[in-house]
Parts: sequence; structure tokens; C-alpha cells
Amino acid sequence: MSSHPIFYILPLFVPLLQVYICLAMSLVEMRFLAASTRQGDKPCAHQFPTQKPECPACQEAESPEPIPEMPPVIEHHLGRPRSVDTSNHYCPNSSCSYYGWLGLNNIISNGHPNGGRWRQLQCVVCGKYFMETTGTIFYSSRTPPEIIWMALSALAEGLDMRGTARVFEVKPDDVQHWLEQASKHMETVSRYLLHDLHLTQVQVDELWALIGKRQEKHKRNAKWVWVALDPVSKLFLAFVVGDRSLPTAQRLIHAVAQVLALGCVPLFMSDQWAPYAAALLTHFGYWCKTPRRSKYGRPPSPRWKPLPILHYVQVVKRRINGRVVGVSHKLVYGSMAMVEHILSQSGVGINTAFIERMNLSIRQHVAALGRKVISLAKTMLGLEAQLSLCQIYHNFCLPHSSLCLPLPEPQSTKGNGSPKKWQKRTPAMAAGVTDHIWRMEELLMFRAPPWRQAVNV
Ligand SMILES: [Zn+2]
Repeated sequence: MSSHPIFYILPLFVPLLQVYICLAMSLVEMRFLAASTRQGDKPCAHQFPTQKPECPACQEAESPEPIPEMPPVIEHHLGRPRSVDTSNHYCPNSSCSYYGWLGLNNIISNGHPNGGRWRQLQCVVCGKYFMETTGTIFYSSRTPPEIIWMALSALAEGLDMRGTARVFEVKPDDVQHWLEQASKHMETVSRYLLHDLHLTQVQVDELWALIGKRQEKHKRNAKWVWVALDPVSKLFLAFVVGDRSLPTAQRLIHAVAQVLALGCVPLFMSDQWAPYAAALLTHFGYWCKTPRRSKYGRPPSPRWKPLPILHYVQVVKRRINGRVVGVSHKLVYGSMAMVEHILSQSGVGINTAFIERMNLSIRQHVAALGRKVISLAKTMLGLEAQLSLCQIYHNFCLPHSSLCLPLPEPQSTKGNGSPKKWQKRTPAMAAGVTDHIWRMEELLMFRAPPWRQAVNV
């Protein structure tokens, strides 16, 4: 039995088998090393789509109405010189040829009717009389305006609705009504003022939120608040409330693309949440023809690829038992050398620290987003209203400590106070949108024209 020839040949194959195993193991190791270096330095290999990815916000977007031709500026030669500045008001009569235009001298002041608080204005072209509060929250409101803007400031600082109602001795329903009106107004003002921004970086993230009204019994109504921030000017660019899915990511990136100047593609940074890559590809992509590999057969279809100037890095956090034990970076689009060049100009590294700090600010300023609170918003619309108030308050009213600029000369203050050495700046001032810190009443009184014009903000 033991004299069978196979038992003499078999030991000869053993060293050969060992060589095979060694070769296979070194191959696996090489693949692993290549993968780990690729994660840091080179973009991931993508199979780009042959159809442009769909964005729900792009499909819903309406084409802007054409802007009518600007009528000539009116010269006033008769009467005493006008002393009231009406350059930030426009004629609200849509059948007037001067409708919507600012600074054409067609609006004159007509005093305060019945000795009231608000001024009456008149368009000299169509003769229409209107109040300076037309189209604002104060129009036909019987509550003193101070109560309204102070209540809204309290809401924007993070006081909940019932607390605000108790402080200002009004009904909670009134506060709710002012918030609804103010949020619509703030959205219009924000859309009017934030546009054509030249940004170098944008950080995006999502916050977990809870809605008070449950859709199903015994099941919490959880939502996600998606936010975008410019870490350089601290401008709160956009927010979206929804589920944690690709269509919501598309809506956020669509909103960011709306405020950017034409041709401006900033560096995007986010956590390792996959839908951002697809959403960025949708809004910052182009059709690229694929060269033929062979002269036979059907030519390859063009592919929707990211623009060469689009750079997107993900911050990958490694966690053990919920604690972060390591941070690495993953380049998704663009080149690492360009990313480092962009970041070297602002002196920050690849991170999502700024947006995470912003999340804390949002939780502080939106009562419905606090952790372990009972002041939750009943509906998603209620949460969105509080967020739009928070967005404009953060951008235009709140000076940011890291944006202060040294004054050329220290300014003396009243009494024994030390001289003022720093100029306070809001994110909107740092982004070059405005030149001063806005007050809540100023925002509420701002009548945004139907189309963008050079307005003194
Ligand atoms: Zn008119």
C-alpha cells in the first residue's frame, strides 16, 4: 500500500504550494496598500452616469420672469427740495411703468396720515398712495411694532414660543402668527440679498431633529436638518428639512448653487455621507465625450462628469464605542494639491469643525432644535419658520467674534470704559453683502423689490 507512486511524488509539490501561498498573500497585501494610499491622495474611481442625475428642486424651479426696461429717472424742478429719502421704496402698483424700480425719484413722501407712526408715500407717475409698511409684517397690524420685533428677536435668540408670549404678555397664537409672517418675509429678503457670492469653501452637514406631532402612534417623528456654511465668512448659506436621503441632499446643494456667483465652484467638505457626492455631481457637472477605443461597434455614450474645478473632500472619522479614535480624508472629486492650495489661503485644514460648531449655534438659537426639550415644533413648517428666522438673524444681526477687524485708531467710549479697538462684523459684512450690522426692525421693514437692483444695503 505505502509503495504507491503518489506518496513519492506528493512531497515534491509541497514547496511549490508554499510559493503559491506566499505569492497570493503578497498580492492581497499590495492591493490593500494601493487602496489605502488611494483613499488619501487620489480621487476614487467613479463610473460616471450616462444620464444627468435628477434633482427635485431643479425640476420645480420656475424660469425667472423677464425684467422690464428701466424707465428714466424723474427730475423734480418745482417745489421745495425733497428731504425724505425714499430711494429704498418702489411703487407697488403692478400696472405702473415704474413698478418695482428703486431710486428713480418717482416716490415722494406725503407725511403721516392722522398723525400716525408710519409715513404715507406716493408714486408721482401713477398717483398711487401707499404706506411705507406695504408688504411688511407691520402693515395693518394693531400691535405696537416694538412688541413684534422684540418678540421675534427673543425667538431668534432661542426663547420658545410660549416663553416669548409670557415675557411680552401676548397670546402664543399671536407669536405664532408673527413668526409665520416674518419667516416668509425673511426668506424673500434672504433670497434678495444673498446672491452672486464668491466663496472658496463650503461645509455641509446634517442635524437630527424631532417634530412634536407624530405621524404614527408610538413612533417618533424624526427629521434631519441639512445645513451649509461658508467657513471663511461664517455665512449660513442654506438649510433644508427632510429625511436623510438623496433628494434632500439634492435640495441642499441646489440651494447652495443658487447663492453662488456664475462660474464659482467652491471646495466642498462633508462627513462620509454618500448622497453629497451624487448631489454635487448633479449641480457641478458637465457632459464629457468618451473617446472611442475601437473603430468598430457603437461609439460610447457621453458621460455626466464633475467639472474639473470641483473639489470635494470627505472627512472620515473612525469610531470605537462611539468615540472618535482617528480622522482621515477621502478625496472624492478634484485633486489633493488644489485642495491644499485653497485651504492654505484661509489657514485651515480639511475638517468639518466649522459646520459642527454652527450646528451647536443653531441648536442654541432654535428652541425647537434643542436637545431634550419640550418646546418642539408641531410641524415641519413650524421648524422651517424658526430656522429661516435663525438664518437671517445669524447672517445679518449677530456679530461673530472671529470676524472682528482692528480699528485704524482706538475709539474712546463713554465714561471710564476702555477704548474700542475692534470693529464688530456679521457674516454678511464679511462676505461683502452689506456694510453694517442690521437690527431686527430694519430687516422686518425691508421691502425687497421684485427683481434685483443696486440698492443701498
Ligand atoms: Zn406708480
